[in-house]
Amino acid sequence: MKYKKELAVALAAVENASRLCLKVLEQSSISSVEKEDRSPVSVADLGSQAVVTLELLKAFPGVPVVGEEEADTLVAHRHLKEMVLSLVRQQNDSIDESRLLEAVDYGAREFDPGERFWTLDPIDGTKGFLRREQFAVALALLENGEPVLGVLGCPNFVLDDTDPSGKGAFFYAVRGEGAFCKPLNGGKDAAVGVDGITDMASARFCESVEKAHAAHGKHQRIADALGIRAAPCRIDSQVKYAALARGDASIYLRLPRSSEYREKIWDHAAGTIVVEEAGGRVSDFGGNPLRFDLGRKLADNVGILATNGRIHDRVLAAIRDVVGPK
Ligand code: AMP
Ligand code: MG
Repeated sequence: MKYKKELAVALAAVENASRLCLKVLEQSSISSVEKEDRSPVSVADLGSQAVVTLELLKAFPGVPVVGEEEADTLVAHRHLKEMVLSLVRQQNDSIDESRLLEAVDYGAREFDPGERFWTLDPIDGTKGFLRREQFAVALALLENGEPVLGVLGCPNFVLDDTDPSGKGAFFYAVRGEGAFCKPLNGGKDAAVGVDGITDMASARFCESVEKAHAAHGKHQRIADALGIRAAPCRIDSQVKYAALARGDASIYLRLPRSSEYREKIWDHAAGTIVVEEAGGRVSDFGGNPLRFDLGRKLADNVGILATNGRIHDRVLAAIRDVVGPK
């Protein structure tokens, strides 16, 4: 497989971060604060970003790690800083406060999106995490503005309904090599693939749990126009891409409620390559590929559509009918 070292390091880093998140979920209450944009950030988001960044920098010094969190949050909330330091020390006992702050703040540095870089959402779906539902540690490697490797750590994902004790999974992909999943607690890697559904009456679509993150009403109108009968499957985070990649759903719709909102690259890079390598297609609501080469945001894309590929153009046509041209 191509990118062998990159994949091994990425999987190990995401696994360690996933374990840190699970440790925090064992606590009866999860410490979190609100950021300036009013979104929540917990000790686990910050701990996860530190753990992944430190491991990536050790193996690939000089490759930027563009992440969601920044050290200001730790500086402004002393109690969080102490808790994050103690969580990270459980995996890396030599780390001190200044190295912790430096690692977390690495995520906010300037970078050249045309060069090789990692992008990390240390906890995608923090609201889902705080509800103890679905969330993902999402990491992707980009080259020339394209994701070439993606790993989604999904600690609350149940791969096999008949065995809920085996909770937790990774989904990962390398460009040109297919998409795979494996249980978090060891076990075999297995190839995953999108479903082959072409009959909309059998199709299911997924969307965010959070009403503020997506226009559920418009999604339903698109689904109605297509003749989809099943109720939407609401899942937090990039676990939606994982669900699509293994054929649990055929469509992922994400239209922001505000036309001003632009998606963040770390919310879609890993999920996109996992779905594409599983045989699916990802575009914006106009059918254009996602542009990961414009900085921290998908500045040129409005709406996200991921499908099993076969029905993509039909869904785009329904989107045009319901939402209108861009
Ligand atoms: P999800 O669980 O799929 O809704 O995804 C969680 C992600 O939604 C977070 O990582 C945020 O970056 C993103 N998000 C936050 N606010 C908004 C918003 N107003 N519109 C769309 N996405 C948002
Ligand atoms: Mg996110």
